[in-house]
Amino acid sequence: MTRIVFLVQLLVVTQLLFSSFSLAQTVSTPSPSAQVSAQSWQILQEIVSDVGARPAGSSNERRLLHDFTNRYWSQSTGVPVNSQPVTFTVRGSKKRSANVWLTFPGKSGEHLVIGAHADSTGEDEGSQGVTDNGIAVALLLALGQQLSTMELEDSVTLVLFGAEEVGLFGSQAFTTALQNDRRFLTGAPFPTAMINLDTIAGGDYLYVHSPTKKVYKRCDKVESYNSSASVRDALMSVASANSLPFRLHPAYPGYREGETGEWSDHAPFACAGIPVGYIEATNFSINGRDGYDGYSQALHPSLWDCFDRSEKTACNPEQEQRWGYIWHTQADRLDKLNQLYPGRLRTQLNAVTELLFNFLTGDKSLQSASD
Ligand SMILES: [Zn+2]
Repeated sequence: MTRIVFLVQLLVVTQLLFSSFSLAQTVSTPSPSAQVSAQSWQILQEIVSDVGARPAGSSNERRLLHDFTNRYWSQSTGVPVNSQPVTFTVRGSKKRSANVWLTFPGKSGEHLVIGAHADSTGEDEGSQGVTDNGIAVALLLALGQQLSTMELEDSVTLVLFGAEEVGLFGSQAFTTALQNDRRFLTGAPFPTAMINLDTIAGGDYLYVHSPTKKVYKRCDKVESYNSSASVRDALMSVASANSLPFRLHPAYPGYREGETGEWSDHAPFACAGIPVGYIEATNFSINGRDGYDGYSQALHPSLWDCFDRSEKTACNPEQEQRWGYIWHTQADRLDKLNQLYPGRLRTQLNAVTELLFNFLTGDKSLQSASD
């Protein structure tokens, strides 16, 4: 055999190996987590095209809360979907919203609630509420379908809250009902952990937070407050075991490392005595309008009037209007974000889905979270 023939043969064998390898890859079934993520992405496109912006108390918010849960939960899981009316007053006008959830009863005494707010804000600026918080809503809709096909050790409730942006009215009504009736979530024990998904994509990094050690101001009963970091820490160990890119934010004035304030739906749960964790995409390394507080989300210069790259802040803090914000602005749109950050939302959605999925299906994650 000449060298040439040998080389040609080697090439043919290599090609065959590679082609059968890629064939095997194309026929392999995606993991359940990858399927949930892919379906969430699909649902997000529908939220954007069928509903768009969803101000608290608007008919668009109700369409997302009722029509989408009907389509993705009621019709395809066979699990009863529950709702609770929420009424609230903003600037003197009375409005209607709701919380909508489904509970999968498990065998153990543990019960995880995963929540996301359905409303959006900044519609006058052009926001579609894609990252805040449509992507998390889409994830919970898809996750519900997946969980309905599984045997769960621990009970799980997935809940969409109404009217978060105008004062946490939905999550407050939900936890008030839970405190008045500890069996409010039918078929499941009082929640032993809660994970809040608020803006899980868009910003530069993925963080997991716990509540502050100091009692939140909004809590009626100081003695019930639960400041435990156990849910955050359990999520972080799942993230590290699976090489997922989640981190704790560094300390900044008023907040210790990894601890967050009472500005989202985890807060009423912490007040109600439930250990909480909170997943959020932003960037705590930016020197924003009020310092390193994570409100500025991204370094991309087109999210700033003028960005000083070396100092990671505005060139002219007095004149800066945009401050790297995505949430509540014209940047929180699918077309805009896909253009600024091709692939980012999808990658972050994959990471959050994998984190939640491994947390839910991993052994003893909840038990250790509520210890
Ligand atoms: Zn939000």
